[in-house]
Amino acid sequence: MQPVYSGYYLWRGAPNESDLSPETRRTMFPYFSFFLADQLQAAGYPISGADDELRIGHRRYNFVWYRVADAFKLKQMCVDEHGTEYEFRIPPPLVRKDLIAQMRAEAETLLPPQYLDCLRHIYQPFFTPVYDFCSPRLVFGRVALVGDAASTPRPHIGFGVTKAAAEAQALAEALSSYDDIDQALAVYNAARQPLSERIVSHARKLGMQLGVGIVTDEDRKFAEMLQSPAGILDWFGMPNFLAAHPNL
Ligand SMILES: Cc1cc2nc3c(=O)[nH]c(=O)nc-3n(C[C@H](O)[C@H](O)[C@H](O)COP(=O)(O)OP(=O)(O)OC[C@H]3O[C@@H](n4cnc5c(N)ncnc54)[C@H](O)[C@@H]3O)c2cc1C
Repeated sequence: MQPVYSGYYLWRGAPNESDLSPETRRTMFPYFSFFLADQLQAAGYPISGADDELRIGHRRYNFVWYRVADAFKLKQMCVDEHGTEYEFRIPPPLVRKDLIAQMRAEAETLLPPQYLDCLRHIYQPFFTPVYDFCSPRLVFGRVALVGDAASTPRPHIGFGVTKAAAEAQALAEALSSYDDIDQALAVYNAARQPLSERIVSHARKLGMQLGVGIVTDEDRKFAEMLQSPAGILDWFGMPNFLAAHPNL
């Protein structure tokens, strides 16, 4: 099984709440925020600070900026300062300085002031390419896959941790419900593999907001709808997305 590159990647980082301007803290910090433009999406939300700090002033803001790039460009980006090339993704501390400088310059013309404030206080931004991956089986003999090993939905739905935990729980429940281990693993596979497919496919569809993966007129209309505040609320800000979009 090989992950398939989606055609886009994310710049990421998490500035300290205390470093941000009073204006950014007032207008954006408390919220799950989005900025949309043609082939562009930036988003952010408050997270805990160091040592799981939740006190006001001690938290961080998780910032992500999606950028479209073909596989050739990604390959060039996954080369470090010494010319070493990495497969799939480059370790965050090894992201080249020229790429970071170029990203900061482009941000000045593309992003709103609050996100620029975030970026100026992210001292080591890094990027993660987005891949689609879903194993056709979660069980191979006595080996059972859970979490990212089983499937990796695109980050739009923020579901990787929940999915990993739910799969671990389903595996534990299956093993405790059947004396026969192979039967338990078969039950786990039947319950969770189709769900994995749905989750990955849902997240892939949301990527159309970035103008990638569009094939039909229906896709085009869907991508346009995702550019609107209503589209964001109905599709990205939807906590129980599997129940809300059962026929996807
Ligand atoms: C930058 C970033 C931001 C993310 N943000 C979010 C988010 O906001 N919300 C969300 O839901 N998900 C998010 N995710 C996805 C989420 O982190 C993963 O989906 C989740 O961690 C998967 O859990 P896991 O247990 O399957 O794998 P992991 O958390 O990757 O755990 C695998 C563990 O196995 C260990 N390991 C690997 N190889 C070996 C070995 N040979 N021997 C022993 N141990 C080994 C690793 O060190 C690691 O600790 C993010 C991911 C990244 C990279």
